[in-house]
Amino acid sequence: MRLLIKKNDIEKIVRKAVKSPVELAGFLIGIKGSEDFIVKYIYNADPSDNTNVSFKIKPNDTYNAIKQAESENLEIIGVYHTHPAPPEPSSKDREGMKAWPGVWLIIDSRTGRYGAWNEKLEKIVVETI
Ligand code: ZN
Repeated sequence: MRLLIKKNDIEKIVRKAVKSPVELAGFLIGIKGSEDFIVKYIYNADPSDNTNVSFKIKPNDTYNAIKQAESENLEIIGVYHTHPAPPEPSSKDREGMKAWPGVWLIIDSRTGRYGAWNEKLEKIVVETI
């Protein structure tokens, strides 16, 4: 399994994350192939309930992201978030992964390093395109 994502999409998140006092999060919208997840674009969620060590995606953002993706024959293939730690799931992230199975793209807001995982905690190769 690979996650294919535009380099520019990752770089935009990193640029915002290093300046943000709180974690950032959103959805990866795209196509689930048999082998690859292809990210077409990023849906950024409202970070106003986030802290420096936690994030929440509001129901309204979830609704809007699903509606927008469906209208384009795409789907939500995963979630991204930034946190000020190595790009691995925290214990809280692991809880979230059970509720939101799929790809979890995690970006270290200190270094810009990133990694992706599924809900079984298997690492997914990220390829920038
Ligand atoms: Zn996290």
